[in-house]
Amino acid sequence: MTITDAAHAPIATSHFIDGRWSDASGATFPVRNPLDDALVADAAAGGRAEAEAAVAAASAAFPAWAALPPARRQQLFLTAADIVDRRQEEIIRLMAVEGGSSRAFAAFQIRLSAAMLRQAAGWGYLPYGDVLRSDVPGRTATVTRAPLGVVAGFTPWNGAFYLAWRTFLLPMAFGNTTVVKPSEEAPLTAGLLHAEILAEAGFPPGTFNVVTHAPGEASAVADVFFESPAVRCINFTGSDRTARILGERAGRALKRMVLELGGFNPVLVLDDADVEEAIEAVTFGAFLHQGQVCMNTRKVYVARALHDEFVAGLASRVDALKVGDPTDPEVVIGPLINDRAVAQVEGRVRDALDRGATLVTGGERDGRLYRPTILTDVPSDAVCTTGCDETFGPLLVIEAFDDPERALADAQDTPYGLSAAIMTRDRARGLDLAERLHAGIVHVNAPTMASEAALPVGGVKDSGWGRSGYYSVEDFTELRLRTVSSQP
Ligand code: NAD
Repeated sequence: MTITDAAHAPIATSHFIDGRWSDASGATFPVRNPLDDALVADAAAGGRAEAEAAVAAASAAFPAWAALPPARRQQLFLTAADIVDRRQEEIIRLMAVEGGSSRAFAAFQIRLSAAMLRQAAGWGYLPYGDVLRSDVPGRTATVTRAPLGVVAGFTPWNGAFYLAWRTFLLPMAFGNTTVVKPSEEAPLTAGLLHAEILAEAGFPPGTFNVVTHAPGEASAVADVFFESPAVRCINFTGSDRTARILGERAGRALKRMVLELGGFNPVLVLDDADVEEAIEAVTFGAFLHQGQVCMNTRKVYVARALHDEFVAGLASRVDALKVGDPTDPEVVIGPLINDRAVAQVEGRVRDALDRGATLVTGGERDGRLYRPTILTDVPSDAVCTTGCDETFGPLLVIEAFDDPERALADAQDTPYGLSAAIMTRDRARGLDLAERLHAGIVHVNAPTMASEAALPVGGVKDSGWGRSGYYSVEDFTELRLRTVSSQP
């Protein structure tokens, strides 16, 4: 039995602790297909005991893993990347069945995951310190980077496969060991599948561990992470709401925290933009994975001269996206993850319409299949346009502007600062605005969702801190100063 068998018939899954699949308690919870509620898996419902065993295994494995020669570590990461490539068809199907991912979104994640594994494979060879000058004659000072110890990871359900790789492999590439607590909405593609791949690749027992838990039971596992002295860092990807709860605990426990949170991700379409290019960028940016990605575009500011052409073109492009069962390779828009997600989008659309917004397209659903929705003329007090809270679904707000400086100011009038984009034929003008837009990522002439494994993803303000890619060396290592002086 493999984890991806769940794409065809329900399976029972266990925790992965110290190199073994283990399920001592026997308690389970159902994981269901968001399209039709069909059973995908009975997953092990863990708690304190499993989390303690996992942290103990990661702690015991740490010294040997931290000391492993770069060549050995490199080989393991390269093997894992090859397994991801080899198994991609089964992984794509599981992502559709467990998380509602279209083929396009699943393939996008697999490409990024394999590329990141291959890049991380070489990091063990990069310089890891400096020799510094001292004012004391005869003193030599060195600064080196050392792994932290056990890094405890929380993964979200959306973009589950790629984001869980980020949670495991970035800390592990720098010599840390990991315990991951996947989202209860998608435990198979947000952690258990990774354990299976890492085990097959030959990673030593204890270097990665996964504990799953029933809905509403996350804190029993999290308690152990905060209480355990072996856990040196909490690596969290999820909502700012949860991050605030965990952040208070991390503060009390003095644990380092890496936070990858939500965004509002505006796009500015300037008056000299290529409208067709802008429509493509916004279609992909706003509606990939039915708008359930942290970097999805939530609002577009369009130069008034282009507004009507842009809105009409975007609406007809979006209406052509096939909505349905994501195991159909032509489907682009699959189901929202759960009823809460549907209620959020429905409520926000209703709120905007009640206040006088215009519905350009969408606003309808069939079960959890919610049609891509575009609103214009949205009053500034409607929740979906304020930028204070991401609407995690296929809802896009479009607003015309006369003054690009005003649009720039409005676009960053949000607590978030993850990604943004500017569409213009004038590269210098685009770069000037990009420099002045306060966000972790600003693309000129690319969607807010544009991603490459080599480029650091991460936010500013309430979108968190921490970066993926090699820059995560700052997050998952600590600096050590050593000096040697001559005796007089
Ligand atoms: P979430 O905050 O509900 O859950 C994230 C993780 O925290 C899950 O593992 C969940 O089980 C756990 N959790 C939730 N409540 C908890 C509690 N009280 N104690 C301990 N653990 C708890 O987020 P989600 O709905 O799974 O993911 C969607 C959110 O993640 C969106 O806000 C999205 O923007 C954000 N996100 C950000 C990035 C990024 O890279 N910046 C990437 C993906 C998702």
